[in-house]
Amino acid sequence: MTSKSLSSALPYRIGYGEDAHRLARGLPLILGGVPIPHAEQGAVAHSDGDAVLHAVADALLSGLALGDIGHYFPDTAAEYKEMDSRIILDRALMLVRARGYAPVNVALVVTLDRPKLGPLRAEIAQTVAGLLDLPATEVGVSFKTSEGLAPDHVQTRVTVLLGRTRD
Ligand SMILES: [Zn+2]
Repeated sequence: MTSKSLSSALPYRIGYGEDAHRLARGLPLILGGVPIPHAEQGAVAHSDGDAVLHAVADALLSGLALGDIGHYFPDTAAEYKEMDSRIILDRALMLVRARGYAPVNVALVVTLDRPKLGPLRAEIAQTVAGLLDLPATEVGVSFKTSEGLAPDHVQTRVTVLLGRTRD
């Protein structure tokens, strides 16, 4: 069996996505669709700057080699300015479903120095899960700090397992 026929025979595919935004005072910080209270800084971005949803969307697309969100939503387009990132995620999910796949589980890591996100873990997991039509138990959320190396950035890394829903 060639590697090509093996991969097309397997019912699962893995996807990976990353995102990062610079942080600045006076802007809202939204992660995984959840507005972060008491954030002194928010994401500098063309859209609403939700680094979690951007990385999830890229992970979905990468699992099926469909490119990245910059391809579908160029940040030079005026129509996408300050756009709700749930729209970006919806589009990626639609593309995945159109190819006969759906997300099975998601593992996401957010690196942010402040504020501490621990108290929001359940809410972020639940919100991301809801957007993907998954139970919250299928979305693992880890928080890291940069140990002061990047206090003005938020960074996210996401893996997603996609399962075939039809032949
Ligand atoms: Zn982003």
